[in-house]
Amino acid sequence: MAIEIRIEGLTRDFGPVRALDDVSLEIAAGEFFTLLGSSGSGKSTLLKMLGGFDRPDRGRILFDGQDVTLLPANRRPANTVFQDLALFPHMSVAQNVAYGLRVQGIGRREQERRVGEALALVELADFGGRNVNLLSGGQRQRVALARALVMEPGILLLDEPLTGLDERLREQMRDEFGRLHQRTGATFILVTHNQDEALTLSDRMAIMHRGRIEQTDAPPRFFDAPANAFVARFVGIDALLVPEGIEAGGAAAVVAGQRLPVAGRAVPGALVALRPDRLALAPQGEGDAPLVLRIAEIQFRGLHSDIRARFDDGQGLVVRAPVDIAARLAPGDPLHLWVQPGGAVLVAPHAPSAR
Ligand code: ADP
Ligand code: MG
Repeated sequence: MAIEIRIEGLTRDFGPVRALDDVSLEIAAGEFFTLLGSSGSGKSTLLKMLGGFDRPDRGRILFDGQDVTLLPANRRPANTVFQDLALFPHMSVAQNVAYGLRVQGIGRREQERRVGEALALVELADFGGRNVNLLSGGQRQRVALARALVMEPGILLLDEPLTGLDERLREQMRDEFGRLHQRTGATFILVTHNQDEALTLSDRMAIMHRGRIEQTDAPPRFFDAPANAFVARFVGIDALLVPEGIEAGGAAAVVAGQRLPVAGRAVPGALVALRPDRLALAPQGEGDAPLVLRIAEIQFRGLHSDIRARFDDGQGLVVRAPVDIAARLAPGDPLHLWVQPGGAVLVAPHAPSAR
């Protein structure tokens, strides 16, 4: 039922804008895969090509080994839930969900059975007769999902399906996607700019930027081994330091005269990324070579304080600290930092794309 997807060198230009730039990707059958990126990075363009709503200028798409690049949407085993839902306003919930089956000429009995199942799947079993205009935002979202699921697609494509819902509903629907994925066993591809959604739901995800994929991995890998400086910043690792040198073998780097064990690969121009979740304030005077910086500024942030500190060479970083501990420190004081194992990672500099 689930379908494996292979994307090879997809490129798509809109006039001077290269919306997709040589994108290649493999998605396993039944995987929950997310395209994550800021607005304009090319996510929807890629999703539309998978759905059959647009064609690439170069490259191809294979479903279970078959080239579908030129196949129109209605002949693909994929269904899309678009951001604007596009429900038929003059139809009932059941009529909306049945629409695709009717177009396919499926018999009335079979239609009713499958619509009933799809509505039950999204917990709208009793809503078949309602007018879609009278539903809440979350219920409309569920109808759009049922309308896609009723086609029993091997691939479900979701374009920012939670954007526009309020916080509580978003969390509820997000969990719903996880359950639907398990129940249907289909290959799910989610497009979102919301990192929480991506991290929570995905088996694997790709971070997109300017029509290119910066990294494809399981969610924890983006933190353990960000592919480059762009990815590190994107996932919230803001402390990116220029080392004076990297020891032969790449086990340690020297930053502002201080030696720091590092993970990752020593590529040319590598930066040292410090994970904020693996930094800890060391009690003053405790040895074992923690990093020593000088405090520049302390900002109260409610449940924690941000301490901005600098190395001797002027490079800086921000450390999150408990409010009571930060209150005992002042600008000008030394700041002793522990870097826990895996907290310092070498990352490649970000190579700007050719255009
Ligand atoms: P995302 O979904 O990540 O926000 P899109 O895939 O929608 O990004 O768009 C990627 C780039 O391609 C953007 O610069 C966008 O303006 C451009 N683009 C997308 N579709 C069209 C189109 N039909 N005509 C012209 N430009 C487009
Ligand atoms: Mg989009």
